[in-house]
Amino acid sequence: MVLNPVLGKLVSKRVVLASASPRRQEILTNVGLRFEVVPSWFKETLEKSSFAAPYEYAVETAKQKALEVANRMHEKHLRTPDIVIGADTIVTVDEQILEKPADKQDAYRMLSRLSGKEHSVFTGVAIVHCSSKDNQLETEVTDFYEETKVKFSDLSEELLWEYIHSGEPMDKAGGYGIQALGGMLVEYVHGDFLNVVGFPLNHFCKKLAELYYPPPKHNVQRKKYDSIPSVDTFENLSDGESESSNFTEHKGTSKLDSSGMCSSGALYNFETSSMSESGAKLPSKILELLDGFRASKALFVASKLKVFDHLKDKGPLKAVDIANEVGTSVGGTERLLDACAALGLLEKTPQGYSNSDSANTYLTSDGEYSLHGYIIHSNDHIWPLFTNLESAVKEGSRQNHRAFGKKAEDLFKDYYHSQEVKQRFMAAMHSIAHLTARDVATAFDLSQFKCACDLGGCTGALAHELVQIYPNLKVTVFDLPEVIANTSYFQPSGQHTAPVTFVSGDFFKDNLPEADLYILSRVLHDWPDEKIHVLLSKISAVCKPGCGILLAEMVLDDEKKNRSTALLQSLNMLVQTEGKERSGSEYQGLLEQHGFTNVKIRLTGNLLDVVLCIKT
Ligand code: SAM
Repeated sequence: MVLNPVLGKLVSKRVVLASASPRRQEILTNVGLRFEVVPSWFKETLEKSSFAAPYEYAVETAKQKALEVANRMHEKHLRTPDIVIGADTIVTVDEQILEKPADKQDAYRMLSRLSGKEHSVFTGVAIVHCSSKDNQLETEVTDFYEETKVKFSDLSEELLWEYIHSGEPMDKAGGYGIQALGGMLVEYVHGDFLNVVGFPLNHFCKKLAELYYPPPKHNVQRKKYDSIPSVDTFENLSDGESESSNFTEHKGTSKLDSSGMCSSGALYNFETSSMSESGAKLPSKILELLDGFRASKALFVASKLKVFDHLKDKGPLKAVDIANEVGTSVGGTERLLDACAALGLLEKTPQGYSNSDSANTYLTSDGEYSLHGYIIHSNDHIWPLFTNLESAVKEGSRQNHRAFGKKAEDLFKDYYHSQEVKQRFMAAMHSIAHLTARDVATAFDLSQFKCACDLGGCTGALAHELVQIYPNLKVTVFDLPEVIANTSYFQPSGQHTAPVTFVSGDFFKDNLPEADLYILSRVLHDWPDEKIHVLLSKISAVCKPGCGILLAEMVLDDEKKNRSTALLQSLNMLVQTEGKERSGSEYQGLLEQHGFTNVKIRLTGNLLDVVLCIKT
């Protein structure tokens, strides 16, 4: 609990961890930090001999990893984070740096050097604060390192090889993981254990304390935080003092960042102070979850009433004016608007309410990246389904019959039975596809492909992005006839759309258009494995060697424990489909059974991740 107030300073910020390490993610998740994971593409290839000390190498690598992610997210627009955390862990023995072993022989070489000796584990950490000025990324880097000494017992050849064959050494600095089997090799640890696991949490919190609670200017005797300040210490620091920091927080308000999302990807956040004024402990995270549905519903109702549309481009309006415009009660409207303002969706001044920048971009029905369609679909379709989650969990099946009083043959027949529901569903798909299209299209270099077919491509949002990025690519959007007949409303105006064509058909039954790249974006998650095999075998039958499949899905981690947005989406699939979200290994298994190998997975940091594989 003592750490939470320091980490609480990050709660209203979009925090990104530039590391794919599940161990780092777990350490930070365990203390309640909410962050996105965007693994860095920075190659760990700095010249080690150019650093005077090993820790300098680790710190520089951590910094470069974080800066690469900050730049990439900024360049891809809309995604400038507030803070990017980079980390690099190395092991040194006899002045030599050991990173991750390249293969089993390399692991053997490393571990036998560590046998019976003390070695050092250094983790370099970089905390990069980002801001965007005139569309230029500005960064401010704070870095540090932590050293922990570890001694291994004498390791017999047999033990060494047994450990190597366990597979554990392969993705770990120095070739061992202290938190699992590797713990058996260790005689003692001097220093921060978590530093050996991959992230020096204690030092990280001290650094945050230095950054967010700097000593007051008038205090001549500068106080160094060599311990993490307790809650009392924080309470003694007034707001005035914290204003001397570059990272001022407005106490008692919760603001959306420039992208409209807080670190977890949720559109709201709550005070997460973990102690009440009286010092009583508050289960902040649980309270936040408990209240989550109220915040969602407030957003849904404001969207449904088109509050954000009414406020767009208008000066501040009083509750009574908005109530008159949307035809609601003044008292009820005022409470809704106040809640929206407290959630950071609106701004409230003595003159009235106005949209936040994020509301203009994402919540108005014609905003550039409008989520309006998705919000209405969530309110009208997903909400009733989720109220039957308990039955879905008990029965293990979809709940359309309970939510809507009828049992349909398949998911899409449900959506397409009425023009209104179909339009709403397509608008929802379009919202997310438009928001994710750039990251999906650029996750891999697709310039080798000449002709793509987006199966279940719906409104063509991804197809249009692809032809912008790859001018030599032609894309066919293939979808059910009910959808294809309805796509004109969603087409970009005033653009040359020739390379995108629309073809109607059923991908389970009809011939597929010819292509050298087949795209399945949010399609496989709708179906059980049996149906996926039917579809993949059809694609495989028309694919020549060298052709590819590109999947865009929320990819779960293999242990299915880290990515709450994706795991909640999997629950969402339970209540409404026979499908589910799958892990990278599960997708790989499905694809390989149909001759698609060289499976590469890229976590984009956006809502959808991307898998590319090639027919051999
Ligand atoms: N790919 C789009 C995206 O990512 O936004 C839409 C995803 S939506 C979840 C699934 C799409 O698959 C819908 O557009 C639906 O109409 C289409 N679809 C479902 N069954 C189909 C079938 N048998 N043949 C062709 N398209 C189908």
